[in-house]
Amino acid sequence: MRAAVIHGPKDIRLEDIPAPKPAADELLLKVASVCVCGSDLHYYLEGGVGTKKITKPQVPGHEIAAWVWDDRAPEWGLEKGQLVAVEPTRSCGVCEHCMHGRPNLCPEQHFHGGPPWIGALAEYFTATRQVIIPVPQQFSPATVAALEAVGIGIHAMRKTDLQLGQSVTVLGNGPIGQILLQLVRGAGAGRIIVIEPVADRRAKALKLGADEAVATYQEAVALTGGHGTDLVIEATNSPDAFAHAVQAVKWAGRIVLVGIPTGINYNPMDAMPFRSKEVTVLTCNKMGHVYPEAIEVVKRGLIDMDALLTHHVPLEETVAAYQRQAAYRDGVIKTVIYPNGVVC
Ligand SMILES: [Zn+2]
Ligand SMILES: [Zn+2]
Repeated sequence: MRAAVIHGPKDIRLEDIPAPKPAADELLLKVASVCVCGSDLHYYLEGGVGTKKITKPQVPGHEIAAWVWDDRAPEWGLEKGQLVAVEPTRSCGVCEHCMHGRPNLCPEQHFHGGPPWIGALAEYFTATRQVIIPVPQQFSPATVAALEAVGIGIHAMRKTDLQLGQSVTVLGNGPIGQILLQLVRGAGAGRIIVIEPVADRRAKALKLGADEAVATYQEAVALTGGHGTDLVIEATNSPDAFAHAVQAVKWAGRIVLVGIPTGINYNPMDAMPFRSKEVTVLTCNKMGHVYPEAIEVVKRGLIDMDALLTHHVPLEETVAAYQRQAAYRDGVIKTVIYPNGVVC
């Protein structure tokens, strides 16, 4: 079958690889669509996410929509041909974190699309019933694949403890920043300021509910008279963004770090504002069981999916799609790749 394979930094190729055979506890899936994620770009540009490096050729793809393509589907309460989402994290179910409802922190987890586990940017894929999520059949394959990114936003929202009317700064108006901007707006935030260096992404932030969109944290801080906002959500790939979040937050405010910085470190920051402000900092690692909420949020139109899913391409255009996504060209926010032909 055809698949996209990352061999190292800036080296993604289309190849023929053996089609997967489902194990006894797995079902065969025909992949409908896969969204390109910021974490895929780290594998593509740096050959890894932080210290987690690719050591052998890696099929990426963890934002997955697929058709159940297995005659055994009814045994699992599914229908052959049914469109489903695939939750990328398969957790053990019995460790301390799983038992406490934190499957994203399971030390035994398999993450589809993160080494050493194969991703879904290929014609076929296999998955256990545990991670196959039935979805409303009126959803498009692109929307279903993007439910994972929406889920990241919902998981981050739970960390924010946002109260009605509170002011918010969102760093970054890429896919996750854009989702979070709409979620905080929908959740009753007060003033929302977006910090985003790319001009067309700033324009988009204003359309999606931001009150102001500026290029730098200094401008954002100035807009608040130097006080900062109650909540700062960081959704960038910049190693400076943590320091910028500290500058942009109000004294005694909260910072939620969602983005994955390029490289393996955050850049150093001044100790004084950080410790003096008595800020609360929370981090996010993937997400928990939030597909039901992600489906509900999308069904109710809280997220503009057309504004999120800007590019739709067949598998054969994967290389160009990754290059465009990495260069922020052509107004790209999120690319949807269709391994079995574009359906939208
Ligand atoms: Zn993702
Ligand atoms: Zn576990």
